[in-house]
Amino acid sequence: MKRLTLLGATGSIGTQTVDIVLQHPDLFEITALSAGHNIKTLKKILADIPAGIVCVSEESDALALQKEYPGIEFVYGDEGLCTLAMRSDYDLLVNALVGFVGFLPTLKAIECGHDVALANKETLVCGGALIDRALKQYGRKLYPIDSEHSAIFQCLQGNKKEQVKRLIITASGGSFRNLKREELRDVTVEQALAHPNWSMGAKITIDSADMMNKGFEVTEAHWLFDLPYEQIDVIMHPESVVHSMVEYADHSIIAQLGAPDMRLPIQYALTWPERYDYQLDEPLDLARLGTLHFSAPDYERFPLLALAYEAGKKGGNLGAVMNAANEVANQSFRNREIPFLMIEEIVIDAVHSARFSELNTVQDLIDADTWGREYALERIRSFNK
Ligand code: MG
Repeated sequence: MKRLTLLGATGSIGTQTVDIVLQHPDLFEITALSAGHNIKTLKKILADIPAGIVCVSEESDALALQKEYPGIEFVYGDEGLCTLAMRSDYDLLVNALVGFVGFLPTLKAIECGHDVALANKETLVCGGALIDRALKQYGRKLYPIDSEHSAIFQCLQGNKKEQVKRLIITASGGSFRNLKREELRDVTVEQALAHPNWSMGAKITIDSADMMNKGFEVTEAHWLFDLPYEQIDVIMHPESVVHSMVEYADHSIIAQLGAPDMRLPIQYALTWPERYDYQLDEPLDLARLGTLHFSAPDYERFPLLALAYEAGKKGGNLGAVMNAANEVANQSFRNREIPFLMIEEIVIDAVHSARFSELNTVQDLIDADTWGREYALERIRSFNK
């Protein structure tokens, strides 16, 4: 029986993790979980999952819930997330938080001797160097939940990492993949939120539409698999059936295929190196699908993908600046305060305006994050004047 602490239980990855746990009551139990503001979904989860300790965003929610569920301990806020991560009574932290808020709980869990199944890619985009250092120091492991990285992880099984020539990350191209740049000027939030293949949370769906998400995934792959950016490529693949590939020294390419369903990579992260049955509505049927397409990415059409390579290669504080500016701009677009193309503009200018510095401490990271957020907020304020 594996005891899980699940952060971000009410989000898209979180609820699918709960699905998997409920399908395998003999394999997993969730001993602790966090939910942000979505108390309704939290209550639904608590009806099935007898967690001992629960973290919510707001103190007022924690107090109200404490009265309703006297048998559960409630904590709140960012500190509450770290309290959960630092407990000793679990085996694997599943981090399904969205954004920079996921960084510190990941670091704390590693420092307390835990392995982490990571869906929160922002942790590595911002502070990959600090996480990498902690993993080595405490001898812990990260298990990727992101579908592309799960695919690469699967393609690496039974092979030698020194013989890898390159990683090939597939990209669907998101909601606007068939539009030209000039056609992006007036796109709406609703159009951006309609992803052709994957059902995901709002933030990542917008990140997919401008391919910031794919840029983040390049950085994520760099840290997860310890390979230089020169050995990480992106290829467009609109069907989202090949989830990613690894090319070896002999030019043999190994790919992982499957239905675009996040429960598969989530389950593999929880059960590695074993595989278990999963009740899937529509398993992949290649004969019915018939054709798969691939093409090279257009870095001028998707400048945030190019920016992520640039920021990743330069390193230091730039990943955290890029992420912070993007979190603010992405949210601001969803609030209908700025047009879609302004997300790119703000994130690119933030990275190019930031003063480079090395990332040695958590405080360095917080400083970079704060700077990136303030830069983006200032741009949005002057735009709306
Ligand atoms: Mg992905």
